Amino acid sequence: MNNQTNQIAFLGIKEDLTLSDLRYMLSLRGEDQSELFKISSSVKEKFVGNIVYFRGLIEYSNRCHKNCFYCGVRSGMRAVNRYQMTDEEVIEAALFAFDHNYGSIVIQAGERDSKLYTQRISQLISKIHQKTNNQMHITLSLGEQSPDTYRAWKESGAHRYLLRIESSSEELYKKLHPQDGKHLYSARMNSINALKKLDYQVGTGVMIGLPFQTIDHLAGDLLFFKQLDIDMNGMGPYIEHEGTPLFKYRDLLASREERFNLTLNMVASLRILMKDVNIAATTAMQTLDPQGREKAIKIGANVIMPNITPVKYRKDYLLYQDKPCIDEEAAECLGCLERRIRSTGNEIGYGEWGDPMHYRRRR
Ligand code: SAM
Ligand code: SF4
Repeated sequence: MNNQTNQIAFLGIKEDLTLSDLRYMLSLRGEDQSELFKISSSVKEKFVGNIVYFRGLIEYSNRCHKNCFYCGVRSGMRAVNRYQMTDEEVIEAALFAFDHNYGSIVIQAGERDSKLYTQRISQLISKIHQKTNNQMHITLSLGEQSPDTYRAWKESGAHRYLLRIESSSEELYKKLHPQDGKHLYSARMNSINALKKLDYQVGTGVMIGLPFQTIDHLAGDLLFFKQLDIDMNGMGPYIEHEGTPLFKYRDLLASREERFNLTLNMVASLRILMKDVNIAATTAMQTLDPQGREKAIKIGANVIMPNITPVKYRKDYLLYQDKPCIDEEAAECLGCLERRIRSTGNEIGYGEWGDPMHYRRRR
């Protein structure tokens, strides 16, 4: 073993990784990167096992009152055809997940907070539980809401909530969002803290490879996740969308290959830092590399979110360009996904909720 290999092995067992340790881990490439991956996959095997949990992803609606500079369904995108799935369509998708033993679904949408809308979500959650004999775990990803709304949704039967911090650096966050008083970093933090208080299983994450983002920002993001003691994580590469304000900075971006590599190093480093959290292999990773999700699973991720949204809506939920699987029915994807996951040496946790070990332990 050379010195570099020794140093990487040492970081694999070090208790309190520092900002400079993480910065170093994120910068590894080539053989050194492979050493990092060997360690992160053995940490995964030891702490969460080689099991991958499915969460059927329902892209419920692309209506949104926010205007985030990076997002292809931001309210300022006039050309987007806006939709909201009917209750029947959501139930049908949930039943598909139930019948195929997924154990869990995610309902994701743009952000809205009218009373009518938040009540409708509560009713939907209750209906899904009725139709699936309370056997499905439900994750919501519906943006910032008041603590009362989060409480109502929890009381209706939601278990988990995903709300990305996007970047834990307030300075960078400001560059990614309009400064109109409706996109405050403090509001995002308040929401995440409210979710924790309400005892949700809480997930957050960031985009990787954003314009103006540095390795220091990303190392800081990892420490932020640790400090917040999150249960779940969903990180993915930033992918430009030509209709958004951030597109004008595309010349500042690293290559797609480099953004993908950096995302893999983030996943591996997080697995080493927070051993028993759930980490998603995200669709954005698959966008930059056709084997992207499998690669993430091999080196630390243990959750995958197959898209079960009706195909007719998929082309209208384009957060970024080149999003994959916009014309494949959920059933078509399933056989191929099974084979892909088995090829990584992992098994699928069929019929299991796959709650994060971390959540169970911290309680
Ligand atoms: N509206 C909710 C929210 O913002 O939390 C949930 C849906 S939102 C579309 C889900 C995630 O999509 C965001 O947290 C963001 O990180 C990601 N996203 C949006 N635009 C993206 C882009 N251009 N590249 C990569 N990820 C993007
Ligand atoms: Fe709306 Fe979420 Fe897109 Fe922001 S990231 S514009 S909140 S859908």
